[in-house]
Amino acid sequence: MANADDSNRRQHGKMTSETRYQALFLGAGPQMQCGVGQFTRLLQEAIEKLDPGSCTALTLTRREGSVAEIWRAVGSARSVVCNFPIVAWKRVMVRPLLRSSNFRLQTGAHALQLHWSASKGKVDSVLYYNWHTNSTERIAASAVVVACGPLGSAKLLHNSTSNEFPHGLGNSAGLLGRFLHDHPREWWSFRMDKPLTLLAPAAYLTRLPYNFSPPLLATSWTLGTASVRDKVRSRFGLKGTVVGVQIIGTMIPSEMCSAKPSSAQKDEFGLPALDVCIRYSDAEVGAVIRSRQHLLNLMDEAGYGATRGETVPTLFPGTVAHYGGTARMHAKREYGVTDALNRVYDAPNVLVCDASCFTTAAEKNPTLTVMAIAARAATHLAHDLKHA
Ligand SMILES: Cc1cc2nc3c(=O)[nH]c(=O)nc-3n(C[C@H](O)[C@H](O)[C@H](O)COP(=O)(O)OP(=O)(O)OC[C@H]3O[C@@H](n4cnc5c(N)ncnc54)[C@H](O)[C@@H]3O)c2cc1C
Repeated sequence: MANADDSNRRQHGKMTSETRYQALFLGAGPQMQCGVGQFTRLLQEAIEKLDPGSCTALTLTRREGSVAEIWRAVGSARSVVCNFPIVAWKRVMVRPLLRSSNFRLQTGAHALQLHWSASKGKVDSVLYYNWHTNSTERIAASAVVVACGPLGSAKLLHNSTSNEFPHGLGNSAGLLGRFLHDHPREWWSFRMDKPLTLLAPAAYLTRLPYNFSPPLLATSWTLGTASVRDKVRSRFGLKGTVVGVQIIGTMIPSEMCSAKPSSAQKDEFGLPALDVCIRYSDAEVGAVIRSRQHLLNLMDEAGYGATRGETVPTLFPGTVAHYGGTARMHAKREYGVTDALNRVYDAPNVLVCDASCFTTAAEKNPTLTVMAIAARAATHLAHDLKHA
């Protein structure tokens, strides 16, 4: 337990109906340096600033976070925020690699620039800041896989300037950083006029058919429980009248939304900081708002009168952090930063393997698609390197 001291824990050692905290953050701890981990920590810090003492955290690793601790912690909070499922994926993949003599994990390394070698006609090394030695170092590379997330990858490529690529690597067609998109997303709950078995796990309603939807606009509905109490009750097959809803909508990618180097601000390494410009259009917000009533109508048709409760106002970019599009994939070089196998057109031994390569975002969570595309690209890269 990171934020609650021992006496607090003893005092609140059993599950009570009174909640002490507004939010409990379940995560893999500060050692887990992933985007979700950072986002969750920043979220906790922000809530703590607004309402000191309102949050607590429990770290779950192999050694920390017993079932009893989780049970007690869940009972002490009104909302639970978890970030560990995705980082768990990363652990599952990295652990077996660590046993291989061909694999070396360099932690505390912040990539600054990819170095283009004019004589070799490819990227031949990566410049990075080593937080362990506090120095800038270089590592040679036959190929480079960039997976810093759509904002971080755009920044790294923008900062990788050379005589041949003065506006950044991958930016020959002026597309790097453009077409940034995110998911409009909102949370609300509805109350039914009669009880229904509480959902465990959540249920998912996919988008409307294409012929009923405006081009590129869609929403999905994830239905689940709306409180920790109902979450616990759902495990016992009990009934309830309140359903929590998460709607994820799409954005129509636009050149006007971008992640570009700032002309005025520098980052901590003296490189241009990133200027992020993104907004949801009225059409995109409208699609999410219309989808509220659509779900209530479906419930009505099923014989369950439903009234929508309060909606958490989140219809602005950045609340879901499902960015994509900044190194779009296209079959033609003039329309894309990367080719169909995630290779940067300017430097085919550099692959961008995150949601940067998405041209559009479906109304779905992005990570499994990112992983599938990355796995496919890696298979081809291994083949290319073997036959180079
Ligand atoms: C709160 C939250 C909940 C989410 N829930 C879901 C969900 O339920 N399902 C889902 O599919 N998606 C979810 N997402 C989105 C999901 O987190 C991303 O799709 C996923 O993390 C993308 O993985 P990634 O490895 O491409 O990028 P990231 O996880 O963002 O990892 C990028 C890594 O690169 C590092 N990095 C950046 N720049 C540099 C640099 N210059 N040098 C070295 N390292 C660098 C970052 O520190 C980070 O560790 C969620 C996101 C958030 C914020």
